Amino acid sequence: MNEYLHYISKLKIACSKKNLDFLKIGNVNKNYPLYKIVINGYNARKTICFSSGIHGHEKSGPLTILQFINNLNRYDLPLYLKIIIFPVANPYGFNTNSRYNYQKKDLNRCFCNPQKLLTENKYLLKSLYNEKIFFFHALHDDCDEKYFYLYAYNKNNEAIYRKIVNKVSQFFPIRHMKKMYGKVASQGIFMDHEDGSFEHKMYLEHTPYSICTEIPGKTKTDLKIRCNLDIIDFIIRFSSNR
Ligand SMILES: [Zn+2]
Repeated sequence: MNEYLHYISKLKIACSKKNLDFLKIGNVNKNYPLYKIVINGYNARKTICFSSGIHGHEKSGPLTILQFINNLNRYDLPLYLKIIIFPVANPYGFNTNSRYNYQKKDLNRCFCNPQKLLTENKYLLKSLYNEKIFFFHALHDDCDEKYFYLYAYNKNNEAIYRKIVNKVSQFFPIRHMKKMYGKVASQGIFMDHEDGSFEHKMYLEHTPYSICTEIPGKTKTDLKIRCNLDIIDFIIRFSSNR
């Protein structure tokens, strides 16, 4: 069995134990089914979304999702909060340990231009077509980093993003100054970076809170997972209270 299907079989078992919807949303390059998990799919009045593994070699996101499902106690979640999870947005990349999809394209640069949309982008966006997302969170690793930073959209919400950075500072040092794409991160936050990413697209689709977190890749996997779980927990609590 390939690495991706091995991961998926573990996730499928975890979801069925918790009675969660584990739904196939498409097939990538024939052999790579793309899935979403839906929690509280019915009667919810607010929806949040987590996406991981769009860069296939960044494994801490998908591992965090598996752990999140295994830890999940649905009774701790308000019934009105629907949670959509894309555990591995780039199945081929996950299996080959590559940033890119099977066409050697970076999927996370192809969401905002209709001419550029690839198979995976289309499946992901189509499955959110009728959803109004309140909070979107993409989980990434920056493989060259020992420090944490995040990308965020909508400057009005900076105080909330700052709380996430403060939370992460219990796990990792924060990248206070980092120059990327000609922009400088301020105290760990890159604001309004228009890069054609999933989080950029969700912001353009009027998702009030949209972020991409970059967990430092050069750190221990269990610490990365614990930190990611804390961020997810923060986002669920924050979204539940509004
Ligand atoms: Zn990434």
